[in-house]
Amino acid sequence: MVADTIIACGKGHVFWGSWVPGASVTTIRLGPRRLGMCKAGRHLSLLRRVDESELTAEQRGALFGAP
Ligand SMILES: [Zn+2]
Repeated sequence: MVADTIIACGKGHVFWGSWVPGASVTTIRLGPRRLGMCKAGRHLSLLRRVDESELTAEQRGALFGAP
């Protein structure tokens, strides 16, 4: 499985993941969002896919490494 999708949690953490519907039995799909584990904060949260263009500078740093 390739982690090629940027995912954000309800607390603003961002991390790389994969967004494959039905891939996890612990996932509950809620329209465009779903409940799952935040890899960055290690907590349960509503997750959503985000486009790279939506990221803040801090989030970019977290994903791509600080300049
Ligand atoms: Zn989080």
